[in-house]
Amino acid sequence: MSPHPTLEDVEAAARRIAGVVRSTPLAASPVLSGQLGVPVRLKAECLQETGSFKVRGAANALLSRDPEAVAGGVVAVSSGNHGRAVAYVAKLLGIPATVCVSSRVPSNKVEAIEGLGATVVIAGPDQDDADAAARRLVSEEGLTFIHPFDDPDVIAGQGTIGLEVLDAFPECGEIAVPLSGGGLISGIAIAAKGRATGIRVIGVSQDRGPAMHLSLAAGRLVDVVEEDTLADALAGGLGPANRHTFDLCRELVDQTVLVSEPEIAAAMAFMHAEHGWRVEGGGAVGVAALLAGRVVPEGATAVVVSGGNVGDAAFRRALDAAGRPDQ
Ligand SMILES: *Cc1c(COP(=O)(O)O)cnc(C)c1O
Repeated sequence: MSPHPTLEDVEAAARRIAGVVRSTPLAASPVLSGQLGVPVRLKAECLQETGSFKVRGAANALLSRDPEAVAGGVVAVSSGNHGRAVAYVAKLLGIPATVCVSSRVPSNKVEAIEGLGATVVIAGPDQDDADAAARRLVSEEGLTFIHPFDDPDVIAGQGTIGLEVLDAFPECGEIAVPLSGGGLISGIAIAAKGRATGIRVIGVSQDRGPAMHLSLAAGRLVDVVEEDTLADALAGGLGPANRHTFDLCRELVDQTVLVSEPEIAAAMAFMHAEHGWRVEGGGAVGVAALLAGRVVPEGATAVVVSGGNVGDAAFRRALDAAGRPDQ
């Protein structure tokens, strides 16, 4: 088994992917800062290439693999954003890409992946079905598998967000990070703890099927029933054979909290009204946790706004729901 990634791996990833990804803005949020009485800054990965941070991990993974091995093609299983990121980087490198998704993945995400020239395979209703389809392509067609979170190169790539936050906001004492499979938060925590900053790392998940939150509480991998949620990018389990992110989260994450669907909708509306950003549900959970008082920061706080890929109709529904919080 490959070892867990280290701070050095994250620093190497930053150099490797510099030409592919954007160094995104770390925007001050005057309204959140005023409400909470501490400086709050938002890391705008919704403005990242491909509309989410996932391109960082995908780029680091594809650029770290043996070029001859990946030339035959890569396959990803994805709730949408990882697939789009892999398709984007594969296209840059001239490599064929296949993305296996469940039937729950929103059509705007499927169209974006196809628009990048990748082949999309729609499997059954759950991430596990998409996972099985991808594994078949690995064994039958020899494609190279790029895991959405439980891969040392992917984790190191996501961790480059942590380096950018630390460099731009050295007084940061807490960082709130959207949490699903845990690749994003593991990478960021490796960067933050590796530089011995004393930063508290807080994971935020949707309360509908929060696999890592429940697994950390139980002290073992817990299966969840997948449910529809505004945070579609966070849906899905950890898989039966997690090698890295569960251990890393146990070791490095200080706290996990949950947010409800109305809280997510309110955060999407807040981001739109106050910052003019279109943020998808999964990208808004950190802001939701602050607005709803589920995280009460004691010092300067960074929030990762992890993605912006939400279709027009779903975005309008969320903004409407936020305007009618009692229903
Ligand atoms: C994938 C994703 C996450 C969660 O990342 P993990 O590494 O699975 O924890 C959060 N937000 C968005 C927008 C994502 O696409």
